[in-house]
Amino acid sequence: MRLSKAFIPTLKEVPADAVVISHKLMLRAGMVRGLMAGVYSFLPYGQRAALKAINIIREEMDRIGGQEVLMPALNPAEIWQETERYEDFGPEMFRLQDRKERELVLAPTHEEVICSIARGEVRSYKELPQIWYQIQTKFRDEPRPRSGELRTRQFVMKDSYSLDVDEAGLDKSYLKHDEAYRRIFRRAGLDFFVVGASSGLMGGSGSEEFMVASDAGEDTCAVCDHCSYAANLEVATSDVADTPTNEDAQPLTKVHTPDQRTVDEVAAFLKLNPDRFIKSLVFMGDQGLAMVLVRGDDEVNESKLLRVLGAAMRPAYPEEVKDAIGAEIGFLGPVGLEGKLPIYADQRLRGGRNMATGANEDHYHVTGVQVDESFKPDQYHDLRTVKEGEPCPNCGSPLRVVKAIELGHIFKLGTKYSSAMNATVLDAEGRNVPIVMGSYGIGVGRMIAAAIESHADESGIVWPVTLAPYEAAVIVLNVKDEKLLSAGEGLYSELKKSGYDVALDDRDERPGYKFKDADLLGYPFQVVVSERNLAEGKLELKNRSSGEKVVLPRTQALKKLKQWYDEAWNRLSPEPTP
Ligand SMILES: [Zn+2]
Repeated sequence: MRLSKAFIPTLKEVPADAVVISHKLMLRAGMVRGLMAGVYSFLPYGQRAALKAINIIREEMDRIGGQEVLMPALNPAEIWQETERYEDFGPEMFRLQDRKERELVLAPTHEEVICSIARGEVRSYKELPQIWYQIQTKFRDEPRPRSGELRTRQFVMKDSYSLDVDEAGLDKSYLKHDEAYRRIFRRAGLDFFVVGASSGLMGGSGSEEFMVASDAGEDTCAVCDHCSYAANLEVATSDVADTPTNEDAQPLTKVHTPDQRTVDEVAAFLKLNPDRFIKSLVFMGDQGLAMVLVRGDDEVNESKLLRVLGAAMRPAYPEEVKDAIGAEIGFLGPVGLEGKLPIYADQRLRGGRNMATGANEDHYHVTGVQVDESFKPDQYHDLRTVKEGEPCPNCGSPLRVVKAIELGHIFKLGTKYSSAMNATVLDAEGRNVPIVMGSYGIGVGRMIAAAIESHADESGIVWPVTLAPYEAAVIVLNVKDEKLLSAGEGLYSELKKSGYDVALDDRDERPGYKFKDADLLGYPFQVVVSERNLAEGKLELKNRSSGEKVVLPRTQALKKLKQWYDEAWNRLSPEPTP
């Protein structure tokens, strides 16, 4: 590509509405332009990156026996009503009517269409397993589209679906996808980790999310760098120290704590460490009010609590608390409340000695609280949020708590949709059984955005060679110098013939502008053709990721380029699978 003819509208200034790095850089590098909230056009430079990602995905899906299909984005409402997801998706689903006032939807995912195909065509277990995949546009009416390509309302996704006769077959299809996904993200230069996840709207029995650490991420995960432990903070656990249980008991004592409500305030007032406190919170749940206890230096994890209290969970209103307990929030505690409302304690409080907590009387706390003696919780659960540096539950190494972008997910769906839609096959015994399904997704735009987030520096994008729209650029410093331009063109043709995906910067612009643009666009390798070096038969090379610059005689320069190129590809080659 000659940049003099190309449409790559780079921007000097950071657009005001862009917050995360990938969004800023995708706009500045002329990769995308917004049309409305959460809807983007991919311009040529962006589309080249997307196609490289798609090619990697396609190769790896084909490698596990996937067959590419293309299903319609426009769906009749009926198939979604069959699985009840017409209701379940709620406002996230785009809905419309055709001219005959027939209800239609823009598909956010394709399990229903897969089942509608399978039930008409697949009759016997002998036709299974099948893996069908597509690379296609999806629609979700996100309540808060933001972060550029990370949260959009229309996006290109690879989604695949496995069809098996039984759970054992599904396990195999799932493992194949697990392997394919590892290879895809490795090839794309993404330093991913895998977490077990809840499947949300998708339902099903097993699932994993492939994540990459990034400050732009919307999930928070605990990750161990030593073993493979990684978990969403909603479910993460750690091998954190217990509360000491071997002290002599001090007597239960009521103390006046005027206007001291928070753990920190009362801790300072009583000159006790926060870890000596029992934080007492009241929540409303499916069964009514409940008291929830965590240690003073811990935070209650509402996702973990949700599983204990049920879907109706919310913090209790101050008046509900006052009515039930007779004290204001800030002076609550479990002592004396047994039998009045259920008490759920974090397991770290088990056996705690000489603790302090609210006295259930405004402006009073109690000290000398012995857990399981002064009061007995109804149940212990893991209710706390894991913190940075706590020991990994598998190996004891310190955990990192990081924000992360979800790159892809794999789900064991089971028979939820095939049962609802009557997509069945005859098994080996001649029984009619619902097809056992898996569903697997990768967001293409997210993959690109995550690669940018992972590798960018202050000058711009640093592409992994595998996703780079152009692997190298030949930069002619002064195109008015015909000798220089023709040397640049010659080099450009030669590199193209050698198999490089290469751009030629033949624009009539100042050298400083071209260098800045090249760094912003993030070509892995820059080949600079300057008057001074040309006179000596030399070329200047720059390696964008290492920053290394060399000036070498032409032949050696081309050898060096090849060496860098091969190294970059080899670094990203998927490990051979056993
Ligand atoms: Zn570990």
